Amino acid sequence: MTFNKKRGNNIIFDIVVVGGGPTGIAFACGFAETNVRVAIVDKLPREVIANPKIDGREIALTHHSVKILKKLNVWRHISSKLISVIKEARVLDGDSTYFLNFNHQEIQKECLGYLIPNHVIRKNLYKRLRDLSNITLINKAECLSININKQYASIVLSNGKKIKTSLVVAADSRFSKMRSKMGISAFTRNFNKNMIVCRMEHEKPHQSIAYEFFRYNQTQASLPYIKNQSGIITTATKDLTSALMKMDKKKFNKEMENSFNNFFGKMKLLGKRYSYPMVTTYAKKFVSHRFAVIGDAAVGMHPVTAHGFNLGLKGLEILIDEIQTAIKHKTDIGLTAVLKNYQSKLHRVAAPVYLATNGIINLYTSTILPAKLTRQFILRFVNIVKPVKQTFLNILK
Ligand SMILES: Cc1cc2nc3c(=O)[nH]c(=O)nc-3n(C[C@H](O)[C@H](O)[C@H](O)COP(=O)(O)OP(=O)(O)OC[C@H]3O[C@@H](n4cnc5c(N)ncnc54)[C@H](O)[C@@H]3O)c2cc1C
Repeated sequence: MTFNKKRGNNIIFDIVVVGGGPTGIAFACGFAETNVRVAIVDKLPREVIANPKIDGREIALTHHSVKILKKLNVWRHISSKLISVIKEARVLDGDSTYFLNFNHQEIQKECLGYLIPNHVIRKNLYKRLRDLSNITLINKAECLSININKQYASIVLSNGKKIKTSLVVAADSRFSKMRSKMGISAFTRNFNKNMIVCRMEHEKPHQSIAYEFFRYNQTQASLPYIKNQSGIITTATKDLTSALMKMDKKKFNKEMENSFNNFFGKMKLLGKRYSYPMVTTYAKKFVSHRFAVIGDAAVGMHPVTAHGFNLGLKGLEILIDEIQTAIKHKTDIGLTAVLKNYQSKLHRVAAPVYLATNGIINLYTSTILPAKLTRQFILRFVNIVKPVKQTFLNILK
């Protein structure tokens, strides 16, 4: 196809990505130095995409995700000073001192994964994008409508421009408007809880261990960052999180020290607290003719198991591969047959992780006695039964 041309009022691209978040940009970078003309449309101004604000999310990345970021030529841009390693992860239930343990030696790697602030990932994705001449960022533009016919898809932007393309890829968040406009609904689960994320400095060292303390009304987790700092994650009812958000800093520090049973000694809030609603989504279809959803628009995970962006990267790796194979065989990249390969491959990876994560949350936030007993049993069961534990560890490889 011949693209990025202007015909009348229409601009023409091979692929249009709606959403310049981390998934949309990473996907577009997969077509670096090819003849594929890609446009990314985002409602945010370029300056905000280039210099994203801190959003409190510390992203735990698996080894496979790092491999993808290396392949996309993004990893080399990220300063090693801003990356920490996670050597071990421990899951504790209630007030019990017994813990389920995942250790880096069990996957024969030097660590279980890496921790990087989300805004650092996004900034470096943009740095890579900036150098690519076949990718155009159309900023400050919202996608208002989408029309698909046999030969092409066309979208209308809020700036009045019209784009024709072979394929529209929606990476416009878990509340994807593009997905809805295409008549694709999603399984949605509202946990009626909020998650507060923030960075804290603490007295006792984390020793590169991530912790997840499942208490009954509140889940308290920590992700080991550089120096004596951790990403602190508190999941609780909306009332409780709203009180924690309003609390003055000194009181909040004390509250966190108590919530961690003084595990880290003295704790001090660094920067702001950020609150996120806990709503998970799973699109009922990932594709239709000339249309695909990726990232959170496909699967909006609960952050408790830290798999959202990892799954997003896995999904875009699959889709890039299917599109490149189609191009090699001179096949139309918008055909459902091409896109369906992506759908079935991503579904195979994402469905078990999504269902297991939601199941874990149900069980570990339930206060009824059978659930409490089952929780204790499961921690021991996964620790002791090797094949079960291996299933969890394989996700990290
Ligand atoms: C507290 C928290 C902690 C997390 N921790 C982890 C972790 O440890 N590990 C992990 O793997 N994942 C984690 N995640 C998940 C991860 O942050 C997300 O999976 C990831 O950010 C999703 O990226 P995305 O690009 O798909 O969507 P988004 O980041 O939501 O980006 C969507 C983009 O689309 C644009 N947009 C929306 N609608 C339109 C429109 N109509 N027209 C134009 N543009 C539009 C928006 O402006 C935005 O730029 C966490 C999430 C949270 C909330």
